Amino acid sequence: RFKNILKPIANACIREEQKEYVDFEPYYTHIVCHECCHGIGPHSITLPGGKKSTVRMELQECHSALEEAKADIVGLWALNFLINKGLLPKSLSKSMYVSFLAGCFRSIRFGLEEAHGKGQALQFNWLYDKGAFILHSDGKFSIDFTKVEEAVESLGREIMTIQAKGDKPAAQSLLQSRATLTQPLRVALEKIEHMQVPVDIAPIFGTASKLLANN
Ligand SMILES: [Zn+2]
Repeated sequence: RFKNILKPIANACIREEQKEYVDFEPYYTHIVCHECCHGIGPHSITLPGGKKSTVRMELQECHSALEEAKADIVGLWALNFLINKGLLPKSLSKSMYVSFLAGCFRSIRFGLEEAHGKGQALQFNWLYDKGAFILHSDGKFSIDFTKVEEAVESLGREIMTIQAKGDKPAAQSLLQSRATLTQPLRVALEKIEHMQVPVDIAPIFGTASKLLANN
């Protein structure tokens, strides 16, 4: 089912020379990794005054979107780490980033209301601003493989620093500035609107997205 949607998104939004990298396998591997990565990073924290708290309690309504973005971005970081250690094939490296980008468009299609969509918009815009995602004049995207690794790392660091401090104002400002429908995202979503996804797939994805949002 995911297979049927990622390829048309890639055709519509990813540049010719990179769209072959979009595949179900790396996309799925990253989803599995996402779930594991919820366990990584700060959960119980100590505030500056010495008070014990949790990230969830401090970040309140900002928590879910940041936590989903963290699981995604640390998931990418972890896969890259395992590839560098020789524990996963080198061939996964480029395909996981390009498949992640196609997957970003897939999720954001369902809106920025729920945590997953918001988290994905945050990641997209961060990576775009760092030059890791490039929008070309034909309205298609590609990855700058020389910049993506560092961009992923910097966002992971940013989110986990906010979580470790329980810094809600920083969480709010990060989400307000980046978890939004920016111009490059609009370009991608318009392309996807016009590509005529088979209607029978749409409800399945709506449900899948809701299920994932509960995590
Ligand atoms: Zn999750």
